[in-house]
Amino acid sequence: MVARKDPDMSSSEIDSLIDLMAKLPGLGPRSARRAVLHLIRKRALLLTPLSDAMLQVAATARECLNCGNVGTSDICDICASEKRATGVLCVVEDVADLWAMERAQVFDGRYHVLGGTLSALEGVGPEELSIPRLMDRVVSEGISEVILALNATVDGQTTAHYIADQLEEQVRLTSLAQGVPVGGELDYLDEGTISAALTARKTL
Ligand SMILES: [Zn+2]
Repeated sequence: MVARKDPDMSSSEIDSLIDLMAKLPGLGPRSARRAVLHLIRKRALLLTPLSDAMLQVAATARECLNCGNVGTSDICDICASEKRATGVLCVVEDVADLWAMERAQVFDGRYHVLGGTLSALEGVGPEELSIPRLMDRVVSEGISEVILALNATVDGQTTAHYIADQLEEQVRLTSLAQGVPVGGELDYLDEGTISAALTARKTL
């Protein structure tokens, strides 16, 4: 018996949906097939609302011009809120880290998303990140404390040291306390750990 090359399991439309879903983080081809089958079976309850929501987000999602958070307006809800404390900025690598901090509900200031870390190996310098913009914000927003909430990776810590050098004597510099595991990304920490690390933050 000769094995067939292309199993005709489903139509090409469904196959291409499976291929796209398989590109999502955490999903491989097997999970994508299961997810698509589930969506088709729950067409009214899930598939249609999901595709509507995706179209909405595709049309409206953008980066906040001030902090780099992702939202649906030029200035995000956090930057626009009058309830957030002024004078303190929490610097994070990625939007996922900002969202992790927000989930912990312990920080009431504003954020600055760098968009990555410095990396000599990959040719990422300060200009490739939003470090110049951070320097501008410290002055224009009258910032007195910058909390460096960067991941405990080598590149994360190199970036923290670079920023600390730039802002030395301008602001109080703090970093999240020990408790953030080495190589551990903020997004993977539970709210209690983030809360404890922020409360016990250390002056650099
Ligand atoms: Zn913002």
